[in-house]
Amino acid sequence: KELITIKDIGRKYVIGTEVIHALKSVSLTINKGEFVALMGPSGSGKSTLMNILGCLDTPTNGQYILNGIDVSRMSDNELAEVRNKEIGFVFQTFNLLPRSTSLDNVALPLIYAGASKKERDARAQKALENVGLGNRVTHKPNELSGGQRQRVAVARALINNPSIILADEPTGNLDTKTSIEIMGLLEEIHSKGNTIILVTHEEDIAQHAHRIVRMRDGLVENDYVNEEVKSVS
Ligand code: ADP
Ligand code: ADP
Repeated sequence: KELITIKDIGRKYVIGTEVIHALKSVSLTINKGEFVALMGPSGSGKSTLMNILGCLDTPTNGQYILNGIDVSRMSDNELAEVRNKEIGFVFQTFNLLPRSTSLDNVALPLIYAGASKKERDARAQKALENVGLGNRVTHKPNELSGGQRQRVAVARALINNPSIILADEPTGNLDTKTSIEIMGLLEEIHSKGNTIILVTHEEDIAQHAHRIVRMRDGLVENDYVNEEVKSVS
């Protein structure tokens, strides 16, 4: 089942008299349940593409169909609604609220979804247990290790049952051992049927994905099935 269909999308930035074609023409179909790594040199358009895929931005040309919805020309408010429902984000820098507990960080997206406090807490508790942090519920980010912080962020990304997890360099701030642990967690999430798109600079990390898309100069340079998926377990 097609989850993401992008057809010939472009994104240009106009700064004064200069026009930067961050994405020239990109077409991509991603099915439900895929685990895709997005690679490419700095400036090749990865962040621009991820921002569009994550409904943080819209293309200046072309079409983006997400889960059957054409999001290509939506207003910011409409995009925000789709984003809250369909997308879970994981960032390199974790992006947790520093003064909030793990439970409150994970429960945050449920506030926008309109859930009651009781339901939010129960679901966040369960989500933290699912990432192995059932005993870190009342801790704040500065009381957790980098790997634990990223687990909190992963639990938060999953709390709304999004149709896609977008992970932007999720292991970029972690040591090798912790990176492998986080990749193991993403593999587990993928094995439950979730769709994951991961940006990484690291070849080792990309090898955990089942498909690798390489970008260059605003174009997809290469898109192939990874025959020898590296698994943590
Ligand atoms: P990557 O994530 O692969 O490093 P980006 O998508 O960030 O690539 O950038 C692609 C190109 O678009 C680069 O030339 C970058 O300078 C430019 N760019 C990205 N964001 C902006 C922006 N907000 N304004 C102007 N130019 C931008
Ligand atoms: P980088 O990969 O350059 O370190 P980040 O991973 O922090 O950057 O952010 C990637 C993109 O996601 C940026 O364009 C940023 O505007 C956007 N972003 C960052 N934090 C959030 C957030 N909490 N919610 C929604 N979008 C965000």
